[in-house]
Amino acid sequence: MSELAFDTKKIRAGYEPGDNQQAVSPPIYQTAAYDFRDTEHAQNLFTYKEAGYLYTRVGNPTVTYFAERVKALDGAKNVVAVGSGMAAISYTLLNLAAKGGTILASPYVYGGTIDAFDRLFPELGVKIKITDAVLDPAKLEAEITDDVKGIYVESISNPNAYLLDIDAISEVAHKHGVPVVVDNTLATPYLYRPLEHGADIVVYSATKSLTGHGNLIAGLILDNGNMSYYTPEKYPQFYEKIVMLKGKSPADIFADNFFIFRLTLVYLNLLGAALSPQDAYLGIIGLETLSERVAKQTRNAEKIVAYLENSPAVEWVRHPSAKNYKFKALADKHLTNGGGGVLSFGIKATPEQEATFLNNIKLFHYHVNLGDARSLIVDSPNTTHSELNEEEFKLADIPANLIRISSGLEDADDLIADLEQAFKAAGII
Ligand SMILES: *Cc1c(COP(=O)(O)O)cnc(C)c1O
Repeated sequence: MSELAFDTKKIRAGYEPGDNQQAVSPPIYQTAAYDFRDTEHAQNLFTYKEAGYLYTRVGNPTVTYFAERVKALDGAKNVVAVGSGMAAISYTLLNLAAKGGTILASPYVYGGTIDAFDRLFPELGVKIKITDAVLDPAKLEAEITDDVKGIYVESISNPNAYLLDIDAISEVAHKHGVPVVVDNTLATPYLYRPLEHGADIVVYSATKSLTGHGNLIAGLILDNGNMSYYTPEKYPQFYEKIVMLKGKSPADIFADNFFIFRLTLVYLNLLGAALSPQDAYLGIIGLETLSERVAKQTRNAEKIVAYLENSPAVEWVRHPSAKNYKFKALADKHLTNGGGGVLSFGIKATPEQEATFLNNIKLFHYHVNLGDARSLIVDSPNTTHSELNEEEFKLADIPANLIRISSGLEDADDLIADLEQAFKAAGII
């Protein structure tokens, strides 16, 4: 369906009623396992001679429909859906650095990702080097040593709306035979498609704007089908013979898809963060309104930004629509559908006033999930990014007075009135 437009694909791609008793809406395959027709069928499935389902931990039709739809939206070649965004990130980085190695990582990323960088990956033999050189590809190039197995960035970052130049980062990475992984959760494929900008692997928390109704946890891993960086010398894990594959390697079985194949076979299969068919179904329903939701969230964010920029209660505002946005030229070029619903601002207040402000907010929800249909407000340094140490806060450019907003689908004037009354209640204006 690649010739169809984005909005047609988000409703139709990856699912055919004719495969399912003409059911217009994708059925929920609520089953743990699938019958083998006979012993030959079982053998064919287990050795990947034949495509099919055998156990829902590693594959389920409803999960496939969801994954295939996102694959079409991102213009990817291969995809697998997993149980959460964190599973997508950790499985991807483990798969890249399976035999040890270093991941060069952006400091402008989700708090849980930083937490995994600090505490999980070193324990598993994967070194993470967090570097602000992602802002300057020439500097980044100097950091790509032989040990580097991947570069990890967010396209639009959380919570500061940093926008990285994926084209330039990919160019220097590819010169050194290193793939680029982009967490595209905030942008969604409606605002930005990293594979069109040279990235090799895209990961999502589908919990957020991608599905948008805030009632499921899901993740996705997609790639562009280019396996040429994974040489046997640098990435031997893809060329190791596996007994279960009758002595073949992942690269022997799927020459154009061995990255995600090995990830599924090893990490999804053995660590087991599978996506449930029920949640995949909710995800499909969410995708149907992706453009409409993100466009409205963007409009609401732009109105809130304009209000905050004129408020005496506010020191600074960060969003692609903000007047002094750091990455304006890049945003004008790449974010033609707008900058999304997430913004942050510096509140001009004492910590006590800031707490009074948050405690007087009535309409915004106070929680951590962004991209929800409902607007939320949160003091990121104390909550979503509280895992960061002093140095990481500085490197990530997260000041102590940062407040993050994820605008939802309510009326913008009601949201602005809520901010105004809470600023007043706190005595800031
Ligand atoms: C929420 C989030 C994640 C983690 O996703 P989960 O689905 O909560 O596991 C990863 N990256 C970004 C940018 C996020 O916002």
